[in-house]
Amino acid sequence: MDKICVFWFRRDLRLHDNHGLYEALRSGYKVLPFFLFDREILDELDDPADKRVNFIHQTLGTLQHQLNELNSSVFVAYGKPLEAFQSLLARYPVHAVYTNRDYEPRAIKRDAAIHTLLKAEGIAFHSYKDQVIFEKDEVLKEDGSPYAMFTPFSKAWKKRLVEHPIRRYPSEKLMASLQTEWKFEIPALNSLGFNEATCSFPPNGVSENRIREYDKTRDFPFLSGTSRYSVHFRFGTISIREKVKEALELNEKFLHELIWRDFYQMILAAFPHVAERAFKPIYDGIAWRNDTQEFQAWCEGKTGYPLVDAGMRELNETGFMHNRLRMVTASFLCKHLLIDWRWGEAYFAQKLLDFDLASNNGGWQWAAGSGVDAAPYFRVFSPELQQKKFDPSGLYIKKWVKKWGTGHYPSPIIDHAFARKRCIDVYRSKTKAKG
Ligand code: FAD
Repeated sequence: MDKICVFWFRRDLRLHDNHGLYEALRSGYKVLPFFLFDREILDELDDPADKRVNFIHQTLGTLQHQLNELNSSVFVAYGKPLEAFQSLLARYPVHAVYTNRDYEPRAIKRDAAIHTLLKAEGIAFHSYKDQVIFEKDEVLKEDGSPYAMFTPFSKAWKKRLVEHPIRRYPSEKLMASLQTEWKFEIPALNSLGFNEATCSFPPNGVSENRIREYDKTRDFPFLSGTSRYSVHFRFGTISIREKVKEALELNEKFLHELIWRDFYQMILAAFPHVAERAFKPIYDGIAWRNDTQEFQAWCEGKTGYPLVDAGMRELNETGFMHNRLRMVTASFLCKHLLIDWRWGEAYFAQKLLDFDLASNNGGWQWAAGSGVDAAPYFRVFSPELQQKKFDPSGLYIKKWVKKWGTGHYPSPIIDHAFARKRCIDVYRSKTKAKG
């Protein structure tokens, strides 16, 4: 058997403009596409109908179809990473493994272990930048340290983009280098311990007009005014480079949101402690109340604040929540209820179809006031004012909270003015204690 290269798909489930795949296809060896259903991750998921697993499974089906048209096939393994690679190496004469980099702490550890295994076998492991525009060392302050404020970061990011314009990696033009000898079947969902979910996924493209009008419509949850690209960015079914190009042409505000995504990826990579603790250590000392009944009411969308409840119910039913609602519900949990932001972060991580450690953590720490460029502690969103501003006719609320306005809808579990004062006192005492 001739030696081959393996391309390991992870957060980049597409054949076009895929950097690592492009490099593998240029290597001079035939390329075996490979995907691993990682048991170490899957075993931690509670819901047998997990929407993310369904999304990946469906997407692999699409990839398989595209590869079959090219007379090729993706080899999908199920197991623990080291064991899966050991059996891959026992089966095929692998010259090198190619992949795109993943910046989550757990992925970095996994990749280091795979690297060590491959090295011991004399096999090269090549990884590339694909899921961000700039990595953590590419946009730095003049003194070489990472930014911790969004606005100066975004300015430096844009400057760097002018100096290093985006290039494409036309992997789709090199498909003749795919291996064509072997055909594989994708394991059925139930063989992985999961069921089919009843959910629909947003399309991976929207009209130019939606992006053009983005700055005017993005904040109103009753409109379809955002791209719904987040799940596609999460799993790489769209290319961030292509979408940044689109944003540069169509809408500055949309571009800014894509820069926020790069910003939080950079923060997680440069300050990995944020995955467990507050970015600003002083906030690790907040005396959270952590009332489990109140937490339950929040999770179920039964706080008696219709906007908060609508957001939580949208999340529970669909796996999506509009950004405005993510801010309102997260702020309500941390500030009104004084519940540790990590509880909310974990709940979102379990439910969100687009769950991404960097953006989720960034969003939660922002809401708790403990993160980079965070909302100051004395800014406590009023759910009623937010409702007046962003859902003035209650269209969004009515969609998700059917009993709103009837005697069957609960009264607020806490008074806003009381909660606001309590929050400010608790936060202030912490800041003073250290300050
Ligand atoms: P659009 O408004 O169309 O924005 C386009 C893209 O820009 C998004 O797909 C996303 O990739 C990026 N983006 C937009 N806003 C942000 C932001 N504030 N931070 C980082 N990137 C952004 N986003 C996730 O992708 N995964 C998460 O797990 C996640 N958790 C969040 C938790 C909280 C508490 C908060 C406040 C925000 C969170 N976000 C998360 C960011 C944001 O809410 C979602 O990216 C957005 O709502 C997805 O919808 P969209 O694709 O229609 O976004």
